[in-house]
Amino acid sequence: MGGTFDPVHNGHLVAASEVAALFSLDEVVFVPSGQPWQKADREVSPAEDRYLMTFLATAGNPQFTVSRIDIDRGGLTYTIDTLRDLAALRPDAELFFITGADAIAQILTWRDVHALFPLAHFIGVTRPGYHLAFDASLPAGSVSLLEVPALAISSSDIRDRVARGAPIWYLTPDGVVRYIVKRGLYLPRHDPSPPGA
Ligand code: ATP
Ligand code: MG
Repeated sequence: MGGTFDPVHNGHLVAASEVAALFSLDEVVFVPSGQPWQKADREVSPAEDRYLMTFLATAGNPQFTVSRIDIDRGGLTYTIDTLRDLAALRPDAELFFITGADAIAQILTWRDVHALFPLAHFIGVTRPGYHLAFDASLPAGSVSLLEVPALAISSSDIRDRVARGAPIWYLTPDGVVRYIVKRGLYLPRHDPSPPGA
């Protein structure tokens, strides 16, 4: 399961658990992105923080693991590199790439898109209020769409809540809440006020 995970939250965890059950997966590997090029418009938290939060959130589930491949590769993250590296590490595994339906909708904008489909089956999980117009040019059977239990949780909402002092308990695991507080993540920047303001 690929994502920025800034921070990881219960929506990601429920989606992973649901997909694992429906597709009888042996394991779900969470892969926090390196420098996410789609999110170049905002500052993304340090990779090490995103990795540790994902680790904290998944540590108790024997089926969930976290991989550093995208973080340690350095540079921009492209799904083609993620899948090639995972395939090299686990040559016998049948790979499924889980991500949000919003990301699947952008799939044709990804680098080397046609090289992606032989490497993995793509599973797009939908969030409440999100409807995907299925792209007819995608190879048949290469993408599955799945509704996960209605969890209107997003990382952006969690960051926004932290910035305005609203609670985030129960939106993400307790360890992640504590880690965010401990590291002072997502607090508003204290930019010096302009003179006379
Ligand atoms: P942001 O709000 O910063 O975009 P996000 O909550 O979408 O963050 P990502 O790290 O971008 O989190 O998520 C990885 C993938 O998981 C995305 O493709 C996203 O659509 C999907 N996803 C996120 N939250 C949910 C949710 N509540 N239910 C189902 N899928 C989700
Ligand atoms: Mg998102």
